[in-house]
Amino acid sequence: MKSLEKIADKYLLESEKNGLKREIVTTNRQDATRIIRGGREYISFSCNDYLGLTHHPKVKRAAIEAIKKYGAGAGASRLVTGSHPLYDILEQKIAKLKNTEDAIVFGSGYLVNIGIIPALVGKGDLIIADRLVHACLIDGAQLSGAKLMRFEHNNVEKCASILQKYRAEYNNCLIITDNIFSMDGDAAPVDALFILAEQNNAWLLTDDAHGIGVLSDKPRNNPHLQMGTLSKAVGAYGGYVATSKKVADLLRNKSRSLVYSTGLPPSVISSAIEALDVIENDKELCGKPLANARYFTKLLGVADATSPIVPLILGDEHKAIAASQELKEYGFLVSAIRPPTVPKATSRLRFTFSALHKKEDIERLAQIIKEKLL
Ligand SMILES: *Cc1c(COP(=O)(O)O)cnc(C)c1O
Repeated sequence: MKSLEKIADKYLLESEKNGLKREIVTTNRQDATRIIRGGREYISFSCNDYLGLTHHPKVKRAAIEAIKKYGAGAGASRLVTGSHPLYDILEQKIAKLKNTEDAIVFGSGYLVNIGIIPALVGKGDLIIADRLVHACLIDGAQLSGAKLMRFEHNNVEKCASILQKYRAEYNNCLIITDNIFSMDGDAAPVDALFILAEQNNAWLLTDDAHGIGVLSDKPRNNPHLQMGTLSKAVGAYGGYVATSKKVADLLRNKSRSLVYSTGLPPSVISSAIEALDVIENDKELCGKPLANARYFTKLLGVADATSPIVPLILGDEHKAIAASQELKEYGFLVSAIRPPTVPKATSRLRFTFSALHKKEDIERLAQIIKEKLL
């Protein structure tokens, strides 16, 4: 066998044995909650389509109209000729929503984080990140070449003590946190971290991938940089960073994932614009995912959900897979989340709630979990 195949074989066998092998499964999503896999329909609690906007008639129509007017693709990097007129509308909308001077749309949330972090800090600088931040923030931090230190999850004192000990040894300093943690669903102490950043001549970058559109709590002070995605509640695709005009211009010049990658298709931008319109105008819809999550935690008798993401931590990888498999037999699709996505021994079922989940479905799910898994 060729050496590369040998390496692949060894890796895959090992992953399988440890319950860590991953697979891409063809999935036909009918809407935010109904999906078809292997010829069978399931109710999904594993989509990030919090508001059902991926299938909203207006959002779909916006994409079709944009293709007719501007074509299927952007044709070049945004810095060359790929910045079609829809980008301006979307970026102004995001800046307004985030209450900042400016915003930039990138190809995805992942591309934002691996682009802007190396544009902001480098060798001789310090990054301090929450222990549980999303993988793409860590990838961006590592690409930057800055020194990366982590603080205990949501522990402002631990972050402060790192600053006190090490801040003086470095030039610039960037503090990084998720707003809502993607695998735990809890919220970060953004205001306290902002104050800490200001006191220590550091900058705060927040990742609002799971907040935009579903949690309207605004921090008292705007973090220096707020990024997020257009692929979750917004139902389209792409990522953004909202910040001051000058910093945005710096990022337009220096973010390699913006400069050296093709602009997004006009249809995607057009859908995002329409989806943000829905979000601005339908506050009732925006409140539903959290209300559904709260109904679920109440039925289970566990702590109130603080976001539409509810983890049920089972510990062992195999146990999480078995639980996910069991729920599948009852027609529910709930992903088992395992290392390295979450720390060792914290494998879990992760439920995400959408505005479209029906009361009866949540009740039946909670009932089965209480009988079989708790
Ligand atoms: C999903 C996610 C991203 C990546 O966004 P994409 O647009 O899907 O690339 C970044 N950060 C967090 C916290 C996420 O959950």
